[in-house]
Amino acid sequence: MAMDIKEKDRQYIMHTYGRYDVALKSGKGAVAYDDKGKKYIDVSSGIGVNSLGYCEDGWVKAISKQAATIQHMSNYFYCEQASNLAEKLCTLTGMSKVCFGNSGAEANECAIKIARKYSFDKYGGDLKGVRNEIITLKNSFHGRTVTTLSATGQDVFHNYFFPFTEGFAYVEANDIQAFKNAVNEDTCAVMFELIQGEGGVNILDKTYVKELVDYCNAHDILVIIDEVQTGVGRTGKLFAFENFGIKPDIITVAKGLGGGLPIGVCMCGDKLKDVMSPSTHGTTFGANPVVCAGANYVIDKVADKDFLNEVEKKGIYFEEKLLAVEGVKSVRRMGLMIGIELKKGDAHDIAVKCVENGLLIITAKSLLRMLPPLVITYEEIDEAVAILDKTLKENNQ
Ligand SMILES: *Cc1c(COP(=O)(O)O)cnc(C)c1O
Repeated sequence: MAMDIKEKDRQYIMHTYGRYDVALKSGKGAVAYDDKGKKYIDVSSGIGVNSLGYCEDGWVKAISKQAATIQHMSNYFYCEQASNLAEKLCTLTGMSKVCFGNSGAEANECAIKIARKYSFDKYGGDLKGVRNEIITLKNSFHGRTVTTLSATGQDVFHNYFFPFTEGFAYVEANDIQAFKNAVNEDTCAVMFELIQGEGGVNILDKTYVKELVDYCNAHDILVIIDEVQTGVGRTGKLFAFENFGIKPDIITVAKGLGGGLPIGVCMCGDKLKDVMSPSTHGTTFGANPVVCAGANYVIDKVADKDFLNEVEKKGIYFEEKLLAVEGVKSVRRMGLMIGIELKKGDAHDIAVKCVENGLLIITAKSLLRMLPPLVITYEEIDEAVAILDKTLKENNQ
């Protein structure tokens, strides 16, 4: 007899992820169906990737049309979809130039390279390099390449794959003095998430962020904001930095930008726009026209003021409903980026039970985490909360 999906997966795919016991087959909006036809409300959107939900009509049309026109051309040719997307991103963020890649980790790699080259060019360097250290925050997450693992400020990620890339230092978030103490003559940049997603939906303190950025600007320390998870409408603004009243030197974006196709973008401001020169960086699939067609569609939808206001309204509604659930202790939220602290019980066990009950939800550290598609409806929010409530009650939470 032929192997089923799960058996084949277990036999042939490296076991780098623990999976829920579900094979998803199709979806529309915030609703997904498994291979047996069972319906789920999805508040995870493929870890914040399906920003417009599953298979939004206009998005499907945009990528299908592009796939049938020209699907790839390499970066040795000009590409209309890519230059349109670059223009939109720069106009909407006040950044000057972008570099396209395929994932969040790659966008961060590019940011790290720009920061180090800027410093190398300006302050001089020998082959070992000087002024190349980047400060990141404890509890951060920046990706899975050897260098972005190094950048990630969590000891659990600094294992097995030695030697890691040198030149990173880690400080406690929300402690400006700790940051100033860590700065030395080799510091070239700071890189952080404004809301630590994987680290447990920790929203950074606004005053801290302002002070940090002012200090860095005064010392020519570049400010790299990792918006891989917080970008593209997730927090109720197009980018989270707008909620903090700062202007970063570099912004990295990925997850939600492609609407479900792989893309990573590193954007930089005026002072850095000419740092990278031919053959200092590149990636074969970067700026792929089909992916860019999808991203252009997503950006056009999400950058709309009314759309963004609706994201925040839905976030407030979601939070209110969640706080009324008996087993919920607290909610950390900005827009539709939501962390839920439970009064008791293990978040992962509860997530598994939620999935069994028809709610696709993820976790971050000891919290339940929701990154619903930005187009989730109020009725679907009600349904999601009802399933969570039911699940917590069934488990005596
Ligand atoms: C997911 C994530 C990354 C890594 O993105 P990949 O596309 O998985 O490489 C980096 N930074 C943050 C903040 C993320 O949430």
